Amino acid sequence: MNTYRRFLLKLSGELLSGEKGFGIDWETLDWITEEIKETLNLGCQIGIVIGGGNFIRGIDSATHGIERKRADYMGMIATYLNAIAIEDFLEKKGVESKIYGSLGLRNALDTYDSKEVLSFLKEGRVTIFAGGTGNPYFSTDTAAVLKASELKANAVFKATKVDGVFDKDPAIHKDAKFLNQISYLDAIKMRLRVIDLTALSLAMELCIPIVVFNMKVRGNLKKVAMGEPIGTIIRDWEAV
Ligand code: UDP
Repeated sequence: MNTYRRFLLKLSGELLSGEKGFGIDWETLDWITEEIKETLNLGCQIGIVIGGGNFIRGIDSATHGIERKRADYMGMIATYLNAIAIEDFLEKKGVESKIYGSLGLRNALDTYDSKEVLSFLKEGRVTIFAGGTGNPYFSTDTAAVLKASELKANAVFKATKVDGVFDKDPAIHKDAKFLNQISYLDAIKMRLRVIDLTALSLAMELCIPIVVFNMKVRGNLKKVAMGEPIGTIIRDWEAV
């Protein structure tokens, strides 16, 4: 029996690029979709919010002179490339999935309808959300929290390349301590690089727990879904 029956998996574009650091690494996409399939087989209901940072991140591009709003639309469009690739790999593995986009790209995907999404999730189909919130100046982390709240998911799983949250940067400080759990407010105060501030404050407001974990370790997604103490859980510890 899994602890997290329904969750939103936030996959960064960076994860899909593997070691290349740009675009999609097909081998990486293959094992990531395999992990998703295995976790789905535990009986979980999985929505994926996909990032686009493997192609473009608005805030970085803006520093090179492109107008922020335009760069953000480019970033949102980039999430569609990843979404379509994930859908394809999942379907090849026999996992039915469906993409919903917040920007209109009607020929490729469906428009969002939360009732329909809920029934797909219950049928064991994976839903993939592209386009983030549909608004410039936001991130796909924020989209994941919004979707988790709307779909009454148990948590957002923030899949990263790091093990979770440390009290200080482990790349700089050898004595950095790993934190298994942390409150929203502490996470906000620490200005974590691993998840954006808007997403954190919204999660606090909406009481959505966020599990930050290392997706690169095979089997971790399943373990997190089963409630094993993997990664760092961000939630309101006083309220429980
Ligand atoms: N983006 C946006 N609004 C959103 C979601 C994303 O403008 O609601 C843009 C933004 O420029 C962002 C890019 O799309 O940098 C890619 O999304 P994100 O950075 O969240 O992707 P990740 O880093 O997780 O791959």
